[in-house]
Amino acid sequence: MKNKSIKLNSDRKFPDNMVNAHSLLLKGKNGEKGNKTGQIYAIPAFNVTTFQSINAAFNAFELLGSSGLLAFSNSALKHFGNNDQSLGLELVSAYIERRAKDSSVKIATHLDHGDYITDAGRKVLQAAVQNLTSVMADNSTDHVNKCAMPLEDNIDLTREVVNMAHPVGISVEGELGVLAGEEDEDTKSEFSTYTNPEELNQFLLDTGVLMLAPTIGTMHGPNKGKPGQKVKLNITLAHELLEVANKINNDIIFVAHGASTLYPDIINYATEQLNAFKSSENDVKTWNEFVGTDWEQIEGLIEAGFCKINTDTENRQTFLAALLGALEKNKTKIDIRYYDKITTNALTQSYIQKLIMSGNYGVWHEPKIDIKKFKFDLNKVSPT
Ligand SMILES: [Zn+2]
Repeated sequence: MKNKSIKLNSDRKFPDNMVNAHSLLLKGKNGEKGNKTGQIYAIPAFNVTTFQSINAAFNAFELLGSSGLLAFSNSALKHFGNNDQSLGLELVSAYIERRAKDSSVKIATHLDHGDYITDAGRKVLQAAVQNLTSVMADNSTDHVNKCAMPLEDNIDLTREVVNMAHPVGISVEGELGVLAGEEDEDTKSEFSTYTNPEELNQFLLDTGVLMLAPTIGTMHGPNKGKPGQKVKLNITLAHELLEVANKINNDIIFVAHGASTLYPDIINYATEQLNAFKSSENDVKTWNEFVGTDWEQIEGLIEAGFCKINTDTENRQTFLAALLGALEKNKTKIDIRYYDKITTNALTQSYIQKLIMSGNYGVWHEPKIDIKKFKFDLNKVSPT
């Protein structure tokens, strides 16, 4: 061990109803809801790319009394900031803090796939520590030379981030192993490696991170495997890794990247709209060949301490399917708020569905809807 790892400062006061991600995740790992303790549950980290998706997520969190975790990739921040990531960080944090002020739940904001390797990555990470409540320092992959970073370098760089973030109460997620797949330019990798338990032990001890993304077979993007074949995660390895982590500190949380599920109803809805538009066979084929991670596999991970499940693709698919439907039915509607409301409401439904599946409801107050009766149906999404 190179130095005593720096503890996460739990006395930091954030703006009203804002907290760091780790405190929400730990409640999930300990099964805490209100004053009760029950079963372990997961917190989906929703990757948001527009103000509309932030609104939809808040609607879902507040309806269910869920812990809210919103994640931002570098390219999302660029989009929010009109091509300027630093401006994007300032705008989203101000927007979310204002929404959280009146909220009935607690909210955390997280930088997804930040890195401390490149100058540009360091700049964004430092700004994220100022503006968000949690950061990921993904130093596992050298994206310039397209290879895994040496373990020592990953440890040194991640520890630098912990030393900067933990004293001011910002939680840090590290990554060990390389995850394949492509979400956008931030995460592209053609290869994947499993996390080695011995390396995990060393990494956790030497960095002091309380959140860690090991690789156990998930992939980024809409094609997580071959069409027709089920994605198989290494749940045995996940349990082995959990044992290693718990021996060091029971507060360590694992993170599942690429944890989006594929919903056949969404695919069917989208292909119906495409057929009505007389779209090319290729478009329909693309939709039909999307491969997600089956929910049963994710449930296996949650039991192995993966309390942060990163969710993006399924919400993108929901948004696009809803937009295709809205356009198909209203080809001349000039009030663009109509499309905005339809897609926002579809996203809210999609978020609600995942929050219920992961058990993240009734944490801050009782849900305002009947969980058992909830049914996600794009045909019934209304513009009000
Ligand atoms: Zn990821």
